[in-house]
Amino acid sequence: MRHNRIIHDERLYTFRQFEEDLFTLQATYPQFALNTIGHSIMGRPIYEVVIGNGDQHIHINGSFHAHESITTNVIMRFINDYLHALSTNEPIRGHNMHHYFNEITLSIVPMVNPDGVDLLNNGLPENERFRELVLDINNQSTNFDQWKANIRGVDLNNQFPANWELEQQRKPKQPSPRDFPGYGPLTEPEALAIYDLTLIKGFDRVLALHTQGEIIFWGYEGLEPPISRDIAQEYSRVSGYRPIQYVDSHAGYKDWFIQDFRRPGFTLELGQGVNPLPITDLDEMYEETLGIFLANIYV
Ligand SMILES: [Zn+2]
Repeated sequence: MRHNRIIHDERLYTFRQFEEDLFTLQATYPQFALNTIGHSIMGRPIYEVVIGNGDQHIHINGSFHAHESITTNVIMRFINDYLHALSTNEPIRGHNMHHYFNEITLSIVPMVNPDGVDLLNNGLPENERFRELVLDINNQSTNFDQWKANIRGVDLNNQFPANWELEQQRKPKQPSPRDFPGYGPLTEPEALAIYDLTLIKGFDRVLALHTQGEIIFWGYEGLEPPISRDIAQEYSRVSGYRPIQYVDSHAGYKDWFIQDFRRPGFTLELGQGVNPLPITDLDEMYEETLGIFLANIYV
């Protein structure tokens, strides 16, 4: 597949390169629809890619966390390979992708946190106000390797109304490179964009991509449906990742989705190592995740 890729996934994405690749895919493939579901604090579009025409509505997102932006590379590579397979009628690992297209409508938000990702992969914002803000939050250090938050220091995956108060009590009380859940749920436009999209489209299943640990989290407070266990087991079989039902964590996207919809929701922790994982991990990580993406057609 490699020689057919038109995206630039040899390095971690700046926002500009990400946007350019989206526009190239849009200009190349008729099956690719691009929506804007909101804007980040700094005004960058939050893009949703929609591919497919099926009754099963599945949502995939990446880069909730800034220093986990390799998840955007994984997703963009899948989009490129999937579209290429449709145009050439080539199967992927024996799967007919036209069948996949007709069974599943994929909603994909490859980069939930564009400002945070760009801070890591492109550097300090040119806008003076935001440059001062992030340096203040980061104790004047210009090393942002541990930065998970959006540009104003809110952890977007601690923003959802699923026992948010529990996270508030034990997490930082002010803007921080990581873990600050905000002064209330859904105060940040990036989290709100995903929340609204999910309410409007009422997905059958959601997958949130993070790094690292090679883990599939699949439960929340006993509210997940029984089928979640079977799906997690199949994801595990094809990826080698370990399924884990519960973890002491709240206010995440998949927590809220399971709680409010009682449908299968998953947090996938891709790869192994110390965040931010290097781009050299992409090939292996992609092969593992590809199995999970494809499994959605039969489990
Ligand atoms: Zn994460």
